[in-house]
Amino acid sequence: MSAAAMASKGIEEHYILDGEEVVITDRLEVSCDGGGGVLGHPVEYITLEKGGEAVCKYCDRHFYHVAHPRVAEIRQKGEPFAG
Ligand SMILES: [Zn+2]
Repeated sequence: MSAAAMASKGIEEHYILDGEEVVITDRLEVSCDGGGGVLGHPVEYITLEKGGEAVCKYCDRHFYHVAHPRVAEIRQKGEPFAG
């Protein structure tokens, strides 16, 4: 986990859904480094709209704002993942 992610006090939930890594967050600006290590990539800053979604262009990780309509479904079907 990046230092920026650890500093955040808000919601950040990681799930695996249909083989994809999905992050639910209440932030409108997130950063992704692919998890660091061999799977990591340069830090990418991603802007989310309220209720919106975005995909990291490097690692295809999906980010959903907590107000997104799919969040309930993701929490129900997703496999919690300590990302
Ligand atoms: Zn990424």
